[in-house]
Amino acid sequence: MPDSQALRAQRARNHRNGDHSLCRQGRCPQAPGSSHAEPIQLHAAEPRDGEEPLVASYREVLESAGRSASPEGMHVMHLATLFVQGKHTASGAAALSRELRAALDVAMRGAATKADALDELALRRDRKVFGA
Ligand SMILES: [Zn+2]
Repeated sequence: MPDSQALRAQRARNHRNGDHSLCRQGRCPQAPGSSHAEPIQLHAAEPRDGEEPLVASYREVLESAGRSASPEGMHVMHLATLFVQGKHTASGAAALSRELRAALDVAMRGAATKADALDELALRRDRKVFGA
């Protein structure tokens, strides 16, 4: 059962006043039953509230490459958000789409992908075998 408006308001009021007895785990680190030692871990692939799937997938790619916090990564997220907000002319959408791809290329430059890591392993193995 979802919390009532009154309960949510009460909880917010109490929380501001330092009373966390109504706070919920995962929302407030001081909520009853929360372990202070364990930070909340969100899975990277989990779409955030209200996030468009396209935006979520860009974020997932950036996060898995460790680039989501870089300026280039944020640029990608900004463009992806603009893109899904719509209201573009056909040519505007095409241009934005090109920009988005280019920005992603820049953001991912030098990021090790899984495929790269496997290639690197294979390369090293070959070098060993052939003594190069
Ligand atoms: Zn609280």
